[in-house]
Order: sequence, then structure tokens, then C-alpha cells
Amino acid sequence: MTTETRPNASAVNNAGYDMPPEMRQNVAITTLDKIWNMGRRYSVWPMMFGLACCAIEMICTAASRYDLARFGMEVMRPSPRQSDLMIVSGTVTKKMIPQIVRLYNQMPEPKYVLSMGACASGGGPFKEGYNVVSGVDQYIPVDVYVPGCPPTPQALLHGLMKLQEKIDGESITKVRWYQKGEIPAIPVPILGPDIIDPRDYALIREAKPAAAQAPAAPAAAPAAPVAAAPAAPAGTAS
Ligand code: SF4
Repeated sequence: MTTETRPNASAVNNAGYDMPPEMRQNVAITTLDKIWNMGRRYSVWPMMFGLACCAIEMICTAASRYDLARFGMEVMRPSPRQSDLMIVSGTVTKKMIPQIVRLYNQMPEPKYVLSMGACASGGGPFKEGYNVVSGVDQYIPVDVYVPGCPPTPQALLHGLMKLQEKIDGESITKVRWYQKGEIPAIPVPILGPDIIDPRDYALIREAKPAAAQAPAAPAAAPAAPVAAAPAAPAGTAS
């Protein structure tokens, strides 16, 4: 009969290393990624930035009842250059998206984006309206989407915890900001009668000749003559 030797569960630490009994109370072994991510997940500074009604719920989340300080996220920064997280809270209009992209470009790495509410995630009740973009993710990369119109503070907190989980899964050896080479900035969209994303220039150039060769719409048929109403006899005006 053979006996299988299995390590005592208490003797194996979180990183999966076996630990001599005399060291179990004094030494902890973990990975560099785990320490690095623990420091980052509890110090995500959001940008002080709101667009519409969802921003009121974001403000409630930062107040005493829900207490963002539990997550180390209560330090809302008034400058993108000191911010780690952009919470896009509200309707993203065509007039505002160039400013949003500009602010995103000004944030230092590592940076994250949380899309709060139906408007920011896909246009919401204003989808395909003349002045609203159908989702901020058409222009900047989004890490977490929080559904709702508006999302409650609890929903936003859940989204922030999901962001913490995403940070936990990152490795210092693979993140984009420690790779060689510069991270290119996102081109700022151009505001006009309809907003243009400079990354779509090639597509626009391709579509332009096709649109120019399309047959012109037929001219409208001449309007039928309208018979003039007989003049009312004098003295019968109502
Ligand atoms: S999702 Fe609803 S609450 Fe949020 S900005 Fe849009 S309309 Fe307002």
C-alpha cells in the first residue's frame, strides 16, 4: 500500500510555495505582480469630470453614504495629468468628444476608462440623435461598462470593483506602458456638421468617389396647378 504525501494546506502560501513550519508566521512569499497590483488597485485616482445626469450619481458615490475612500479612490483630481481613471458619466455629445479625447491623451499611463450609464456606453435614450455619439468606445478604449440610466451608486461601486479585478490580472512584464516604443496618442476628432474621426480618413476617401458617381436624384415633378378659390362676394366676410 502506498501513501501519497500531500503538503499541509496551511504550509503552502498564496503563491503556491511550500514553507518550513518555523517560518510560517514570519515570512510571506508572493509575486512582484501581486504586490505591485495591490498598491495600484487601492490608489486609483478618478478625474473630477462629469457630463450629464449620471454625474450626480457619481457625486453621490463619492459622498459619505457610499464612501469611495474604502477603495482608495476618493481623491478626485481636477487635472488629467494626475488622474488614473476617467469615469465618463453622462451623455457624450459630438461637441464634447474632442475634449474627452484630448483629456484622455493628457492622462499619464497607466490609465483606465469606465463608461458609466447607457448614454456613455451606447448613446442611451439619445442614440443616433443629431448631436450624440453612439458610445464613447468608438473613440477611446473602455475598460469597464456600467449599465443603467442612471446607474445607482452601488452599480458604480461594482464597476470600480471590476476595474480592481482587471488591475489584479495585469502583469508588470506585459503591460503596454512598460513596452518599448511610444504609445501613440488618439487623434482628436474634428467637429463639423458631422464629427469626423481622423482614423477613418482612408474609408472616407474610398467612399467619396463612389458617392460622386452615384446618379443624381430625379428632379421633382412640377406641382399641379391649384385652382384659385372664387372671391367671396362683397359684404359676406365672416
Ligand atoms: S444614462 Fe440616463 S441618467 Fe445617465 S446621462 Fe444618460 S439619460 Fe442621464
